[in-house]
Amino acid sequence: MDCDLRSPLFLIHLFMSTFLPALCVIYPLNEVNLLDSKASQGELGWISYPSHGWEEISGVDEHYTPIRTFQVCNVMEYSQNNWLRTNWIPRQSAQKIYVELKFTLRDCNSIPLVLGTCKETFNLLYLETDDDQGSHFREHQYLKIDTIAADESFTQTDLGDRILKLNIEVREVGPLTKKGFYLAFQDVGACVALVSVRVYFKKCPYTVRNLASFPDTVPMDSQSLVEVKGSCVNHSKEEEPPRMYCSTEGEWLVPIGKCLCNQGYEERSSTCQTPSAVSGIRKEKTTRNSVSLAWQEPERPNGIILDYEIKYYEKEEQETSYTILRARGCNVTLGGLKPNTAYLLQIRARTAAGYGASSTTFQFETSPDSAFSISSESSQVVLIAISSAVAIILLTVLLYVLIGRVCCRSKSKHPDEKRLHFGNGHLRLPGIRTYIDPHTYEDPSQAVHEFAKELDASCIAIDKVVGAGEFGEVCSGRLRLPSKKEICVAIKTLKGGYTDKQRRDFLAEASIMGQFDHPNIIRLEGVVTRSKPVMIVTEYMENGSLDSFLRKHDAQFTGIQLVGMLRGIASGMKYLSDMGYVHRDLAARNILVNSNLVCKVSDFGLSRVLEDDPEGAYTTRGGKIPIRWTAPEAIAYRKFTSASDAWSYGIVLWEVMSYGERPYWEMSNQDVIKAVDEGYRLPPPMDCPATLYQLMLDCWQKERNNRPKFEQIVSILDKLIRNPGSLKITANTTSRPANLLLDRSSLEVPSMGTMGDWMDPMRTLPCKEAFSGVSYSSCDTIAKTSTEDLKKVGVTIVGPQKKIVSSLKALDSNTKNGPVPV
Ligand code: AMP
Repeated sequence: MDCDLRSPLFLIHLFMSTFLPALCVIYPLNEVNLLDSKASQGELGWISYPSHGWEEISGVDEHYTPIRTFQVCNVMEYSQNNWLRTNWIPRQSAQKIYVELKFTLRDCNSIPLVLGTCKETFNLLYLETDDDQGSHFREHQYLKIDTIAADESFTQTDLGDRILKLNIEVREVGPLTKKGFYLAFQDVGACVALVSVRVYFKKCPYTVRNLASFPDTVPMDSQSLVEVKGSCVNHSKEEEPPRMYCSTEGEWLVPIGKCLCNQGYEERSSTCQTPSAVSGIRKEKTTRNSVSLAWQEPERPNGIILDYEIKYYEKEEQETSYTILRARGCNVTLGGLKPNTAYLLQIRARTAAGYGASSTTFQFETSPDSAFSISSESSQVVLIAISSAVAIILLTVLLYVLIGRVCCRSKSKHPDEKRLHFGNGHLRLPGIRTYIDPHTYEDPSQAVHEFAKELDASCIAIDKVVGAGEFGEVCSGRLRLPSKKEICVAIKTLKGGYTDKQRRDFLAEASIMGQFDHPNIIRLEGVVTRSKPVMIVTEYMENGSLDSFLRKHDAQFTGIQLVGMLRGIASGMKYLSDMGYVHRDLAARNILVNSNLVCKVSDFGLSRVLEDDPEGAYTTRGGKIPIRWTAPEAIAYRKFTSASDAWSYGIVLWEVMSYGERPYWEMSNQDVIKAVDEGYRLPPPMDCPATLYQLMLDCWQKERNNRPKFEQIVSILDKLIRNPGSLKITANTTSRPANLLLDRSSLEVPSMGTMGDWMDPMRTLPCKEAFSGVSYSSCDTIAKTSTEDLKKVGVTIVGPQKKIVSSLKALDSNTKNGPVPV
């Protein structure tokens, strides 16, 4: 055969020299190959009808490994009908298969004298059978999967260079029911080289999460998820039954529950066993309101002891309220105690690996109050002096309290907020570990080193910039610690020329993040403070921030996937509120998403969080607040509590269900404040399950005590995950409250005339252009608009199509019926 432009050999030859390096592929772990033509080094033995049609060609790749390809190029003759059929492919356990074709296809314009005969497509077909039918072949039995066209053709440039583009097309086939199947390729007169054919199915691969193992699981063909129960790994036991869901895409979603290591088998690595218990606690000196104590270092410190945590409480109060102190050495003086009172105390040591076991409980009593044991002979002068002193003290305390109330009204705590500050890191706690405000440290750099590990900059490799933070760039990179596996990380840098305050504020985020340890809170790996640039290193979240991620994947997730994401956020927020940490800036832009769709709360800081947030707007009382996400009481008088975080959670819920829509669209901040104050609330996003909309409305209760706690939110979402059928009833089809921002008055068929104008408040701007100039004269015309009509005016993406059609339907029913009061 000649080496002319129509030669199949020419096609292959050019391909070999241009594209073979790209064939060196490692397939994803969740794909199981049923057929891979490249893996065969001998003849593939596929059947070709007629024999002068498709031709099997041998070639070698860059390693001189033989590969087999097929091509046909009968472009000069009319009525071509050339078939190529694979061998029989057993289906194994697959319900849905994927066919990946790599091919080159000649542009007919580039072949002289073929006008009218040359084609630029070929057909892909399949036939299911229970057994191998050998060479038996009947065209009509085959079902068409698709017509395959090239995105990129093989063309010739003006300079005469031939540019070959490799096309890759994937098609899904399913559900399959018989034991196996054949694939067939029908050519009707194209010049095509089939470089490789791969057939695979997806599975959720064996994995271990939260100490539970989950077996290889083949997804269903339909949209439903497969619920899989995990088994605790050896030497661990269930804390909460572990389970996950396997999606049709072969991804594990929504990990729930976990196992915990049995005693004696706790997780440890070469750098990180926690210290053994502190012992030998003794009293050195006691007064009426203080005690000095000393103790011995743990027998097995297993590392450098960073500090000791001393927890004590009045014996009578039985741990309902306790105080925590930290000491660097093996002694401490506890002050501010009540005279003549019994106290109980426990001490534990902390190393880089975490807290060790607590000591046994130690009891001590303070001395009796001698001030009132003055003998009767004492002079009246002493008594008068004491009474005057007491009166002065009482008066001072009273004044102090009054002044405190007036000045610090905005700082007072909500009754159910668990965090109470006593300066210098002394905290009184109602029985749980609490967050320590790094600003209570005289030297904030001490706080960083208390809560964050110092990393050696040489262990960090920066790859690329992924975002911009207030203090510098955010990069992706890798962290390799000695004797640990390399992990992907995000690296926030502090740009040069910073002031002391900027450095402190930058590192405050690490001091806060370092106190948290939860799967739905972004994990701090450590900080670099001893060399420049100063860095904060956290786990890497492949999908970036939730708002842009949702916008990128508009209408692409199942309800259960969205609920899984929301559950994660609620669970992270429950943890934060249990710790007594109020986030103040909870919004989809401050949630990060990893490759498993796990959502994690991020963006910690104090006042700087709001300074940093582009949504932050100055209020009349000063200070920046992200108005659209913030509860009315926090806007009005800076009452930030876990209940105001619950309001923000409701807004995040709305953002998620509307795939990243901007809350209150283009309304001004002032209009939002006014509307919310007057009792108006956001309407349900399109197709939003009624239960989730109800949860939003609950979070937006004006009275903050009526809003659900994060614990309740988690449990509501868990119930929905267990019973996904409940997601089918949508808020748009059930009764809607009358106080919605988009009620009849705002949805009335506008006299404004064009659909483009109407779409402005709906934020469907990409589609708006398509509609400008399209006038709708009556409700009937609007209601009859279909996705086909939308395609005609250029709205081709499914998500926006769906949104617009259902918006129009809602508009139609609203204008006919008006809003329904609850
Ligand atoms: P921040 O300063 O935390 O708001 O981060 C700015 C941007 O950097 C975010 O919007 C993300 O796009 C990106 N980013 C921050 N942290 C991470 C992370 N851990 N993983 C991936 N991207 C991140």
